[in-house]
Amino acid sequence: MPRAPGARFAVIDPATGEAFDDAPDQQPDELDALVGRAHDAWRSWRTDRVARARALRAAADAVEEARTDLAALLTREQGKPLAESAAEITRAAARLRYFAELDPGTQPIADGRPVRSEIRWRSLGPVAAIVPWNFPVQLASAKFAPALAAGNTMLLKPSPFTPLATRLLGSVIAAALPEGVLTIVTGREPLGARLASHPGIRHVTFTGSVPTGRAVAEGAAASLARVTLELGGNDAAVLLDDVDVEQIADRLFWTAFRNCGQVCMAVKRVYAPARLHSDVVEALAQHAKTVVVGAGLDPGTQLGPVNNAPQLAKVERYTTRALAEGARAVTGGHRLDRPGYFYAPTILADVPPESRVVTEEQFGPVLPVLPYESIDEAVDAANDTGFGLGGSVWGTDLDRAEAVADRLECGTAWINHHAELSLAQPFAGTKESGVGVAGGPWGLYGNLRPFVVHRPEEA
Ligand code: NAD
Repeated sequence: MPRAPGARFAVIDPATGEAFDDAPDQQPDELDALVGRAHDAWRSWRTDRVARARALRAAADAVEEARTDLAALLTREQGKPLAESAAEITRAAARLRYFAELDPGTQPIADGRPVRSEIRWRSLGPVAAIVPWNFPVQLASAKFAPALAAGNTMLLKPSPFTPLATRLLGSVIAAALPEGVLTIVTGREPLGARLASHPGIRHVTFTGSVPTGRAVAEGAAASLARVTLELGGNDAAVLLDDVDVEQIADRLFWTAFRNCGQVCMAVKRVYAPARLHSDVVEALAQHAKTVVVGAGLDPGTQLGPVNNAPQLAKVERYTTRALAEGARAVTGGHRLDRPGYFYAPTILADVPPESRVVTEEQFGPVLPVLPYESIDEAVDAANDTGFGLGGSVWGTDLDRAEAVADRLECGTAWINHHAELSLAQPFAGTKESGVGVAGGPWGLYGNLRPFVVHRPEEA
């Protein structure tokens, strides 16, 4: 049914389960004018790299100045502890600065022929970015910083679960950029689908789940726009038999539970040597029992709520099913008896390897710990997934750990850490975790097209 112009949709505080604000429910038919405006803005934005860099640095300053307001709004709609929201804003500003300094340059093609040919890099045009609710600001910046630095303009659509901080971010940045360079659009489906398939869009860059990524790629095929997809993950942490359980337990716990487990690159499965399995389970359960769960705005909170009701239902479904299949909740395994979308931090043992909480992405505060007998078995289990985002190996002998990490089928493998990312590194999942490369210079070139000029040498 068509929605009325000027319609709005409610935004819910996950710490209470109550609506606290609303956002414009923009209609797909508004996109033509907005894409047209982005196209007009592109004509001048693409021309001067030095001026763009200056504007992006000014935008970074503006984002930092607005950090307190942005962080509070982000926590209110997303649920994460305030310090994590503030870190997200800081990272967004850092990303703007990083890409402002990247110059794609020109590269000569030297192959011995008597010609002078050279690659110059050209922008693409208006880019559509679609992002999820787990890191709304950070993921938005991962889209607009490289795209704008490359000379493109952008329409960016946040998740309807978290539209507000992105809208505020857009207005803060807009003051530093020419009109039409960055436009935030908010609304419910089919807004994203129509944006991804809009004929005026030249690159669709999407972060979200695998099924939606497929739909986005199909939509973009209509106009043959370039597609970059950053999709889900089911990262494994493989613990070796020389691991110091006491020493790594805190870090391992937080690589799984930060942002309430709602991280594409969270540790979502732990493989422990059978001999150490109960020690690992016990150490992780101790953390899960003592972590302070609460509203993100409360100063003592370490772990917030799950972001939204459908996601909470999914976490509950996967866990209940695992328990019915024989898994044991060493701690947790249930919702918390309080308003809002809270789920008890959960450590699962005795989980059948074919249980969905192992084979799929639970995306919540639930962690299965599985025993293994041989390294080959552990590596095979870690790789036995359609995903390929990240992975990690934990042990005392770093060379041995690195040799095992080298066998993981994923985009980034860590040793004694997980999900620690540099702005300068390529970010690219393999298998169903993604298409294309974001991050670092690769992220910039992902928003550019090579333009080759070929002329004979002077006689
Ligand atoms: P989702 O796929 O449901 O939604 C992502 C975005 O797509 C939202 O803005 C949503 O409104 C929009 N959308 C929904 N249907 C659409 C359609 N038909 N066409 C176009 N857009 C549409 O994902 P989610 O539940 O919001 O986020 C969680 C997922 O994101 C997890 O799978 C997680 O692993 C993944 N993720 C990946 C990365 C990464 O960098 N690889 C980072 C963060 C999250």
